[in-house]
Amino acid sequence: MYLRDLLTEEQNDIRQMIRKFVDKEIMPIREKLEEDYSLVESVLQKLVDLGIQRTGYPEEYGGGGPHSATTLCIIREELARGDAGISLSVGINGGSIFRPSMAAGNKVVLDRFVPAFCGNKVTYACLSMTDATGGADSENPLLRDKYITTRARLEGNEWVINGGKSWPTHAGIASVYLTVCTTDPNLGDEGVALIYVPGDAKGLSFGKPEKKMGYKTSINGSIFYDNVRVPKEYRLAGPGRDAQLYHAITAGSQLSSASMSLGIAQAAFDIALDYTKDRMSGGKPVREWSMAAGILADMAIRVETTRALAYNFAWMADHPEKYGRTFTREMISKAGIVRVYAADAAVWVADMAMQLMGSNGLSPEFHLEKYLRDAKIPQLWLGGQQISRYRVVRGYYDYTVE
Ligand SMILES: Cc1cc2nc3c(=O)[nH]c(=O)nc-3n(C[C@H](O)[C@H](O)[C@H](O)COP(=O)(O)OP(=O)(O)OC[C@H]3O[C@@H](n4cnc5c(N)ncnc54)[C@H](O)[C@@H]3O)c2cc1C
Repeated sequence: MYLRDLLTEEQNDIRQMIRKFVDKEIMPIREKLEEDYSLVESVLQKLVDLGIQRTGYPEEYGGGGPHSATTLCIIREELARGDAGISLSVGINGGSIFRPSMAAGNKVVLDRFVPAFCGNKVTYACLSMTDATGGADSENPLLRDKYITTRARLEGNEWVINGGKSWPTHAGIASVYLTVCTTDPNLGDEGVALIYVPGDAKGLSFGKPEKKMGYKTSINGSIFYDNVRVPKEYRLAGPGRDAQLYHAITAGSQLSSASMSLGIAQAAFDIALDYTKDRMSGGKPVREWSMAAGILADMAIRVETTRALAYNFAWMADHPEKYGRTFTREMISKAGIVRVYAADAAVWVADMAMQLMGSNGLSPEFHLEKYLRDAKIPQLWLGGQQISRYRVVRGYYDYTVE
């Protein structure tokens, strides 16, 4: 059955709405967005005006209720077809860091932070996870959270946080930071503490925005915690449960990553398909030569396989009663499969698109080169492809690392 027949009418409408928005508001200024962040903010504001930011939050705060994984996949894919950095920002601001607090029913956190995201202005959130000492370690499921280095200790009614993070998206501009800490690394999973930290907390400071090759339209930087104090209720859920929810966040992030890779791959394929229709070689369009046609076919196969994998996993995530919660070993493994495949596919598709376009592929005028730069990033984040492969294999057998 074709994907559109599996989606609800509302999901198909969301896809159409975002597709039109991207064609009108992003495609014509794709390259300019990378040079001027005020243009990015104006696109983000238009998406807030469309209601995209607030829709993923609970209705009691003015939202539309938490999005299903499938709806999130649609939003991320369609936005990434225009610009992956914008897709990333919208996903984070649209509720991804509050899904665990909704799941845990942490009303103190929701009451304190969510209303701003349901308002009429762009409001930034941040998942502050990657330790300055290395992101792969805190993401590696085999290490069972024993190598998280940002420390939280309870003093009276407050958490006191010390440590540093590198590269989180929206560092320095977010109004709230969901901070991955440990109360004691020797406790492993039991020591994980996920704590919401307001952007104006005393002791919180930031490095300069990173310069980077891709995802230039979203901001990354370092975050420093120097005896940052927050109320003890700002901890997500408690010992053990925080680790489960952390693993659910990282599994969900694998799907987000895959849906952005999908949007990037689709855009690169569309550009190459169109370019090779008009570009002539030996008296006929490039795409009429069998070797080029074969490359285009392989590109299409990778795009459609990624789409099938991503929406298959989204469907499973939306039906925990049948497939288990996203923090189970099996689901984490399946999320890893989707992300690894999608990231590699997008790099390959964008690379082949440039191959088919020759030197013009390098020129921003032909719109392709930015997608090749953006495609690389999902191979690097969330612990990189190697750590995701550990996630994959762990679903088939388990390790104990002591
Ligand atoms: C655009 C962008 C957005 C990001 N957004 C966020 C965000 O919102 N929040 C956040 O917290 N972080 C974010 N990050 C950071 C990102 O998640 C980390 O960079 C990533 O987890 C890898 O960590 P690292 O760069 O410290 O790599 P390292 O930990 O230094 O690892 C480097 C490489 O070593 C290899 N490696 C390490 N350990 C092993 C092992 N045990 N086995 C095999 N290979 C291994 C892997 O190839 C890995 O890629 C973002 C990064 C980018 C580029």
